[in-house]
Amino acid sequence: VTGLCLAVAELTTTAESTGFSRTGRYEEAVRICTELEDAHRGRARCTRFGLTPEGRPMVAVVASADGVLDPQAAKAKKRPVVLFQGGIHAGEIDGKDAGFWAVRELLEGKSTPKANPLTAVTAVFVPVFNIDGHERFGPNNRPNQVGPEEMGWRTTGQNLNLNRDYAKAESPEMQAMLALLEAWDPIVYMDLHVTDGAQFQHDVAVMVEPANVGPDPLRSAGRKLRDELMKKLEATGHQPLTFYPSFRKRDDPSSGFEVGIAPPRFSAAYWSLRNRFGMLVETHSWKDYKTRVKATYDTILGVLELAARDGTRWRSAAESADKMKLAGQDFPLVYDATDKARTIKFQGYAYVREPSEVSGAIRVRYDPSKPEIWNIPLHADLKVVSSVRAPRAGYLVPAAHAGWVAEKLKIHGVVFERLEAARLGLPVGVFRATEAAMRADSYEGLQMLSVKGAWAPEKHDIRAGALYVPVNQPRGRLAIHLFEPTGPDSFLSWGFFNAAFERKEYMEDYVAEDVARVMMEKDPALKAEFQKKLATEPDFAKSADQRLNFFVRRHPSWDDRYRLYPVYRVDTKP
Ligand SMILES: [Zn+2]
Repeated sequence: VTGLCLAVAELTTTAESTGFSRTGRYEEAVRICTELEDAHRGRARCTRFGLTPEGRPMVAVVASADGVLDPQAAKAKKRPVVLFQGGIHAGEIDGKDAGFWAVRELLEGKSTPKANPLTAVTAVFVPVFNIDGHERFGPNNRPNQVGPEEMGWRTTGQNLNLNRDYAKAESPEMQAMLALLEAWDPIVYMDLHVTDGAQFQHDVAVMVEPANVGPDPLRSAGRKLRDELMKKLEATGHQPLTFYPSFRKRDDPSSGFEVGIAPPRFSAAYWSLRNRFGMLVETHSWKDYKTRVKATYDTILGVLELAARDGTRWRSAAESADKMKLAGQDFPLVYDATDKARTIKFQGYAYVREPSEVSGAIRVRYDPSKPEIWNIPLHADLKVVSSVRAPRAGYLVPAAHAGWVAEKLKIHGVVFERLEAARLGLPVGVFRATEAAMRADSYEGLQMLSVKGAWAPEKHDIRAGALYVPVNQPRGRLAIHLFEPTGPDSFLSWGFFNAAFERKEYMEDYVAEDVARVMMEKDPALKAEFQKKLATEPDFAKSADQRLNFFVRRHPSWDDRYRLYPVYRVDTKP
């Protein structure tokens, strides 16, 4: 065996050497990462960027034909960087084998007939993001997927879903990933998955943002990127989609599809809020492993080629979005597809819907031997269903919460200042929740909270050590999502402020009885209001608690911080 043959064998994945029937263990990913560096000194580097809770190294391959192999060099050269990751859901492992294949061929100069994109772009490839999940290896981890024979598990060793963890950034793996992203600042961040869902002919879906929503000119550049990528994929024999192919109504193909705008707990949505392209790639689970890996491989190459041509323009569009002033502007938090739809010709299969003696419901049975065109609706028209007016200056995080919030903001690269001196009687906007509902079940190990209410002006004493977070900053969009209490992935929504919504001090009933009498004696209007409520509201009249509470809530001993969101807004920099 010659050295060259050995090198080639070592750089080949288990997937390639088994005709894509199997995929390798994580040990192989670390080994190939190292050996790519050894085989291509000065053009490839294997970097460790973290350690999983189970003690495994998190590795990334960095590849550049002209030696731009570290974040400092990339920054100095204004180099477009494309970061792609496999195995955030480790059972959906196409990205690992496709990425190694693509990077190896690019380094060997084999993959593309034209100029090597690595002369203009630095590729950063994380073969497996959810590593501990990847090593929970077995044949039954993906019941809706064809191959490989064995694969990893969806969630981490701590049973957390990394693709719900971007905004809250709780897992060690996510904190390591966000540091990697912060260092490299990739203009495109591709997250490589395999979908579930119905059976049909299309083999890959690529969702890009900003493209449907987001700031221009980044959004129009995103649309162009998406549309050109679609053409490239079609030219290489794929049937790509630009929307996530899950039916509007479960198990009902005739209900069609919709374009969705995800909240920033998800990879692509998160990265797009940082004014860079977030890209969700979903190969279709009912295609065999080889077909899926090839679709992912072609998507990676297509994006690298487009980045080599347009990456510098994308970067300047991103920089102009970073400079946009958000203060005082309307800011959309949640979008939804409207009822407006157009009919698309979707490459489906013949299917029947028939009563099932198993479920007692209607079952769907697809016949993949009979390709069929479905004329079904696509709801691509979007509307804003929740928005806020951004503060005129920024957010103020009181000292009590400054410690942990500062740590989160650093992880996200959100800029803030610490107040050196106290500000007494500072005019601020406050959010007092009129309704606050915690989810009964835990979600990702947390108890989510949803609130209703509005911002209103008050004056508060602010202690030294509070954080001031301006909204006019490159991470302003993300900051608004993290701090607006009604944002779907705000710190409040994730339950980080739940204690502020718990009642902590009480008045004994026998004390309230006396207090009520004194209050009515002093205030005849209050007495009249109470008596009117007794006469007109039967539920109130029947409830001893509500009747006493009527007075307790109006008494000076009532906790004025109960249900006060402990983050304020300011119109001027304090
Ligand atoms: Zn997935």
